Amino acid sequence: MHEKSLAELSTALHSKAISSVELTELFLKRIEQLDGTYNSFITVTPELALQQARAADARLADGSAGPLTGIPLAHKDLFCTRGVRTSCASKMLDNFIAPYESTVTQRLLDAGTVSLGKTNMDEFAMGSSSESSFYGPVRNPWNPELIPGGSSGGSAAAVAARLCAAATGTDTGGSIRQPAGFTGLTGLKPTYGRVSRWGMIAYASSLDQAGPMAHSAEDCALLLQAMAGFDDKDSTSVNQPVPDFSAELNQPLKGLRVGLPKEYFGEGLDSSIADTLGAAVKQLQSLGAEIRDISLPNAELAIPAYYVIASAEASSNLSRFDGVRFGYRCDNPADLNDLYLRSREEGFGDEVKRRIMVGTYALSAGYYDAYYLQAQKIRRLIKNDFMAAYQQVDVILSPTSPTQAFAIGARIDDPVSLYLTDIYTITANLAGVPGIALPAGMANDLPVGMQLLGPYFSEPRLLNIAHQYQQATDWHNRVPAGI
Ligand code: GLN
Repeated sequence: MHEKSLAELSTALHSKAISSVELTELFLKRIEQLDGTYNSFITVTPELALQQARAADARLADGSAGPLTGIPLAHKDLFCTRGVRTSCASKMLDNFIAPYESTVTQRLLDAGTVSLGKTNMDEFAMGSSSESSFYGPVRNPWNPELIPGGSSGGSAAAVAARLCAAATGTDTGGSIRQPAGFTGLTGLKPTYGRVSRWGMIAYASSLDQAGPMAHSAEDCALLLQAMAGFDDKDSTSVNQPVPDFSAELNQPLKGLRVGLPKEYFGEGLDSSIADTLGAAVKQLQSLGAEIRDISLPNAELAIPAYYVIASAEASSNLSRFDGVRFGYRCDNPADLNDLYLRSREEGFGDEVKRRIMVGTYALSAGYYDAYYLQAQKIRRLIKNDFMAAYQQVDVILSPTSPTQAFAIGARIDDPVSLYLTDIYTITANLAGVPGIALPAGMANDLPVGMQLLGPYFSEPRLLNIAHQYQQATDWHNRVPAGI
């Protein structure tokens, strides 16, 4: 049962082949048995999960159930969940019990899903490998010596190891798509504003966006349906009707124009990935797609611009963690200043401090024009690149990252090499456009991710293309050995 997709589990629940309580117990048992290896959960909530499962079974019995009712999920530990620790994988919030529920998790609860617990991640979502967590690194179910990607690496590992049916993630610069690529999952970063950020602990507010991580595009469509939509509690939420994401999954791909940006297939890309994507492109062609070479001329400026903007916003967002109102407070402060300084020094990890310092510097009076303002101009150029590309093609295809999953510890002392891991994903956040990652094939016994980017609000089209690819291939059904 644990190998089934969310859509298959939904059918099993509705046909009464299994109850939500049984399914929840099955996943809880798997977490207990296997998660010692993967460290994908920070907090498991068995009692709450079983209570939600019993409520779901009642809905399944009385006919008021929807497609997600009774499905056991896990949530990245930066969604506030009422009454449950919400740590953001930081010592700073190790003792923080959220007093309210985020819009995303509330909507998923309203749809009848069960929450098994909160997943591990990079501290405050800053990272590309899920190694910067206060609770220790997450391990990749395909090979526990390797990173699962980050920052939503706990969600990725939990889904890949079949410890839950699917999970939520968030993506500021690639944190849904990149770990999905490293673990063989399908993950969607929606258009900025499509999904409410209310109750998500902010990293970089103009880039953050929540989305689903699951085994297939079909599963992502079901989850996004519940997650998406206007929320007046988030001023950047877009007030536009939510389409039926499952309705267009079966559209044929004939005539689809797919762009391959030359900047994303050049130097720095591992040949194993280039070869695997070459085969995936042929597959799409055989499904009717037309391939065009395109250019995103400002792509090489994305990493520096992103790390200035994201760090600047982080330095501002994280100023609320001051030891006064919530979270970690140092022992015996001498005075107020000492309380601020030591609470932050002791509560934050190294990478978070690095970002706060870079961001504060970039925003400071003498350097604002040279760094922050300049980065914002580059951001506009990158957006313009996308707009020009979408005049020529319907979607853009690229790798999700330049290499496959690497060894735990291999890059942790070299922040810049970690920053480069997201070279193909961060442009979408800077422009605000949606992107989906899905397994394109296997190389070296590990999954290889493929990314498809589309124009604003093209989620139905991206899900459709991914679904058609998954109808013709079985990469998304591969299960790691021993799982
Ligand atoms: N690796 C990028 C960063 O550290 C992206 C992280 C994310 O998307 N949350 O900022």
